[in-house]
Amino acid sequence: MADNKRDYYEVLGVDKSVGDDELKKAYRKAAKKYHPDLHPGDKEAEKKFKEVNEAYEVLSDKEKRARYDQFGHAGVDPNFGAGGGNYGAGGFGDFGDLGDIFGSIFGGGFGGFGGRQRDPNAPTRGNDASAAVNISFEEAAKGCKKTVKVTKIDNCNDCGGTGCEKGSSSKTCPVCHGSGRVETVQRTPFGQIRSQTVCNNCHGSGKIIDNPCHTCAGKGRIRHTVEKTIEIPAGIDDGQVLSVRGGGDAGRNRGPSGDLRVSVNVRPHPIFERDGYDVYCEIPITFSEAALGAEITVPTLDGKVKFKIHEGTQPGDEFKLKGKGIQRLNYVGKGDQYVKITVEVPKDLSKEQKQKLKEFDAVTGEKNYKKKRSFIDKARDFFKD
Ligand SMILES: [Zn+2]
Ligand SMILES: [Zn+2]
Repeated sequence: MADNKRDYYEVLGVDKSVGDDELKKAYRKAAKKYHPDLHPGDKEAEKKFKEVNEAYEVLSDKEKRARYDQFGHAGVDPNFGAGGGNYGAGGFGDFGDLGDIFGSIFGGGFGGFGGRQRDPNAPTRGNDASAAVNISFEEAAKGCKKTVKVTKIDNCNDCGGTGCEKGSSSKTCPVCHGSGRVETVQRTPFGQIRSQTVCNNCHGSGKIIDNPCHTCAGKGRIRHTVEKTIEIPAGIDDGQVLSVRGGGDAGRNRGPSGDLRVSVNVRPHPIFERDGYDVYCEIPITFSEAALGAEITVPTLDGKVKFKIHEGTQPGDEFKLKGKGIQRLNYVGKGDQYVKITVEVPKDLSKEQKQKLKEFDAVTGEKNYKKKRSFIDKARDFFKD
């Protein structure tokens, strides 16, 4: 069943950051190892071979792989929700309970999802839980640990998930003999129609609890809010969602837990902006620094860096500080930092300052202002009069 699927990366024995070539190599090795031609009649090898092929099919497809990374098996397997019967479409919905509710409203007849009959004792995967976390620009760039509050369903600690008060135990439902469903026979003009419906006596669980646990009221499960510390990897960006395997609702009947999905919000930074793994910032310099050249101090994620501005720097000139950007998510290396120069024109000048500038202006000419000269040449017709 879909619920017990192994992690695709694990199946191929590769790392989450695996590149295309390495992935192909790992696939070839595994496929060779379990190839049915080499293990005629070996069911276990056949199963492994299928598993390997399925894993490679998903991981070698960029789009499917991205979905798998985000949502796990549920993201790539169309049958995942339908077959398991306990995988909710979203939020904290618990299909197991929903099935029971439907069962009691309609007096049964709710024969499971996707046309399959739900075995009340079959292991089913828990739903995903979600949480959000706010982090600073620097925390996103360098990675951090954050504690989030997660509301999720877990097995009740007091009864160990059995739903029975300490010292007592459940008994098999005498109506359905533990199967959770009963067969009804309807007579119609076309003959008898036999159908299976959820057992009303035990609501499909197959068990009767005489002495329910006081903590969970016999459900065996409780919804509670827990604090969970999550490792946020360096390079994460605003709006990305982290998936913590097994951090969601507990599975039923020893089924696997759902995942915890954490949406990451990154607060804007007062001087840095981000595009991919590159960092952008604008640095204002004075008119004379631009004209004469200067050594300026540039803030970077790794601290201050001195940079020499050459003589005659123009507004909008840009320079690159290689490797001073953001750590690549799950990869080696960093982006770059781009610094854009703006030239601040002085304001609120005193009489004396103005006088000095006029004197300066009187001794400068065309050769100092090449751009202006060239513009006038090109626009000569417009300046005729
Ligand atoms: Zn029953
Ligand atoms: Zn309990």
